This record gives sequence, C-alpha cells and structure tokens, in this order.
Amino acid sequence: MSRQGHLFIVSAPSGAGKTTLCNAVLKALPGLEYSVSYTTRSPRKGEQEGVDYHFIIQDIFCERIESNDWAEWAEVHGNFYGTSAKKLEKTLNSGKDVLLDIDTQGAKKLRSRYPDATSIFIMPPSFEALKERLAKRGTDSAESIARRLEDAKKEMREAASYDVVITNGDLSVAIAELKQVIAEIRAA
Ligand code: 5GP
Repeated sequence: MSRQGHLFIVSAPSGAGKTTLCNAVLKALPGLEYSVSYTTRSPRKGEQEGVDYHFIIQDIFCERIESNDWAEWAEVHGNFYGTSAKKLEKTLNSGKDVLLDIDTQGAKKLRSRYPDATSIFIMPPSFEALKERLAKRGTDSAESIARRLEDAKKEMREAASYDVVITNGDLSVAIAELKQVIAEIRAA
C-alpha cells in the first residue's frame, strides 16, 4: 500500500501571524498541501474563493453538517468553519501531507479522528502584540476585533494540549522553526 499523507494542524489566535507563517512554509516545502476550509463568513478584501476559503451560505453549511460532510467543523468568532472530509481523505490517500489552519475546537476533533496528526500552536509574543496586529491589519471591524481578542484568551489556554508551540515574535525565526518541525516529522 502506498504511503498515507501526514496531517499538520496549525492553530493560533487571530492576529498571531498564522496565515503569513503557513503561506511561507507551504511555498518552501513541496508536497505539502493547504486544506482550503469552508466558511460562512464574508470574504475579506483580497481573499479569493477556492484559494483562501470556499465561501458558502449558512443553509448549505448546516445541510452539510446533517449529511456528515465535515471531518470537523466549529463556530468561531460567530461564523461557521469546516473541513471537507471527502477532500481531506482524498489528499491523504494520494500520499500528500496536509496543512490545516483551524481553530482549537476543530483541532481537538481532528486529533481524535487522526491520532497520528501533529498539532502546532502559534503563540503571539504577548497579548498586547496581538491587539496591535489586529488593529494594524485593518481587515476587521472594531466589534470583530473585540470578539477575536476575547476568544484569543480562551484559545491561548489550549496551547498546552498541542504537540509543539511556536512563538511568533520574529517572523523569520518562527518560519524557520515551523519548517524545521514539519521537515523533522516528514523525515521520521
Ligand atoms: P479567519 O476568519 O480569521 O480567517 O479565521 C478565524 C478562525 O477560524 C481561525 O482560528 C482559523 O484557524 C479558524 N478556521 C479556519 N478554517 C477552519 C476550519 O475549517 N475549521 C475550524 N474548526 N476552524 C477553522
């Protein structure tokens, strides 16, 4: 039987720089595929359908809960997010490794479904830094920022349950660390 792909689950509070980190690592490591999630939130400026997310309406999302289409799903910051079970299985069966950017609730569900998965938590250098980054990013409303900061406190408490924690203080250092973690697991 051919080799099954490996799952790398990455979680972080909003504004910790996870997307930038993941994009850099995906660019650098061949054979690692990004799992494009489904969401009911509206696209942000510059986000592309099928690249950043599959944007769907809530009715469709809920229908797909009923039909067991999600490998995991969760409500995060007031919107629904989910990973297609079919797509994930297909990629893993093709032998490709998969990188998922999902929240702590989804990560928990996926780890029980795929116990061999590697879970990585990206920590901001401080809560203040998170606040600053979210405000600077300018993509979220004041209400959304407040909610994301409130949720960040809960998410950061979950870090201890992850296999690896990387602090994103200096971006290039954090990229190197994430690359190394993934490369070591792939080589094992
Ligand atoms: P954002 O709206 O900033 O893109 O993402 C908000 C949160 O939803 C992030 O913590 C992100 O990791 C999480 N997220 C994105 N896709 C999924 C998914 O498919 N499942 C789960 N559980 N969380 C997701």
